[in-house]
Amino acid sequence: HKKNPGEPEFLQAVEEVATSLISFIESESRYKNTKILERIVEPERVIIFRVPWLDDKGEIQVNRGFRVQMNSAIGPYKGGLRFHPSVTLSVLKFLAFEQTFKNSLTGLPMGAGKGGSDFDPKGKSDNEIMKFCQSFMTELYRHVGADTDIPAGDIGVGGREIGYLFGQYKRIAGAFNGVLTGKGSEWGGSQIRPEATGYGLVYFVEEILKTKKDSMSGKTVTISGSGNVAQYAAEKCIELGAKVLTLSDSKGFIYDPAGIDKEKLAYLMHLKNIEHGCIKEYAIKYNCEYFEGERPWKIKCDIALPNATQNELDANDAKTLLKNGCICVAEGANMPCTPRAVATFLKEKIFYAPGKAANAGGVAVSGLEMSQNSQRYSWSRAEVDAKLKMIMHEIHERCIQYGKEEDGFVNYEKGANIAGFVKVADAMLAQGLV
Ligand code: NDP
Repeated sequence: HKKNPGEPEFLQAVEEVATSLISFIESESRYKNTKILERIVEPERVIIFRVPWLDDKGEIQVNRGFRVQMNSAIGPYKGGLRFHPSVTLSVLKFLAFEQTFKNSLTGLPMGAGKGGSDFDPKGKSDNEIMKFCQSFMTELYRHVGADTDIPAGDIGVGGREIGYLFGQYKRIAGAFNGVLTGKGSEWGGSQIRPEATGYGLVYFVEEILKTKKDSMSGKTVTISGSGNVAQYAAEKCIELGAKVLTLSDSKGFIYDPAGIDKEKLAYLMHLKNIEHGCIKEYAIKYNCEYFEGERPWKIKCDIALPNATQNELDANDAKTLLKNGCICVAEGANMPCTPRAVATFLKEKIFYAPGKAANAGGVAVSGLEMSQNSQRYSWSRAEVDAKLKMIMHEIHERCIQYGKEEDGFVNYEKGANIAGFVKVADAMLAQGLV
């Protein structure tokens, strides 16, 4: 706490991981006197920079840019860029720390990083977004590279932003390479990358349900968010025969008891991705309920998928979900459940899948995009989807290996933390005091 004042999100993430790791580290003789936990929580490097740009009125705007290069023990730094007014060093350090374990869990050779800016893309014109992205990359380019640090998208950074960032990188570096993932499929992007986090999340839930000889078919699902992760999680739920009851945005949530079907989801995607409108419009079009300023956790469901942002599901929400018979909570977002919410789920022994395992499909397919770029080749949609499914299956196995308790209950949080940790920690030790 003394070393990292004013970084509550980072401290929260470290405490959560340390809770499951300390007794494991103490029980393994190879970690004795290595200070491995103190080393792994310290970023290798943090870059903070000025991002000046001209808005459409010709006025000068100044934002702050960041890149946290957290850990390169098992591969080059890898992790998304977030553009949102709530971005601080604390938020990016928490995300980069989580990314260390997540990337390790995928089984692919990827280190961890995270970056972004306090820039708010809301209400900005295309021209302003492009100018901001160009200015951001004019500094970032010297710190990233296809073999050193490969950023991707996150909140506020989708295909459009990756395009502008890549264009500027190419001009300055004079090289067309895999420096960013999430590129368009015509210019180096992988099939299934836009869908990967949401699809992977639902594949992971299927793996969990399989342990009880159950499936998604016929389940009711509440989802928060209506961005990249939420949209494709909803699409996969519908495809597997589940009924999606809610979606949300930063203003409120919609409750559609008839279920959000394919056609309604297509409208929602157009509304959010093309018109950049509010989810309230959905409630007006389909004549269903809209709850201003609320989150969807009071709606009765079998499965809850928090897919918007950190700390969006607290202990009271957790109790309501349990009271309503929810059997599984799987995190599409990073750290959406507060520590007390997580403790509530674990105490009642319902299925709780932490983001670092459940949402790892996105970065996994980013890893596959890197492989395809290196080979100068692209795999078909079916090939990438099959690999994604296999990776989510293997992550689930790793969680069971380290998270299964004596009574048979699987503590996925503990399992994910330990499995992610072992590979990175052992690589750090093998590489000496780095
Ligand atoms: P998007 O920007 O596409 O969507 C974010 C969604 O969450 C929007 O519906 C947005 O509402 C809502 N939201 C954002 N901030 C808040 C807030 N403070 N309060 C309430 N609602 C909010 O982002 P993604 O879908 O890509 O990311 C969502 C989560 O998933 C994040 O935690 C991200 O780190 C995580 N994640 C994303 C991956 C990816 O591949 N994209 C990979 C792994 C994790 P509005 O429309 O009003 O802005």
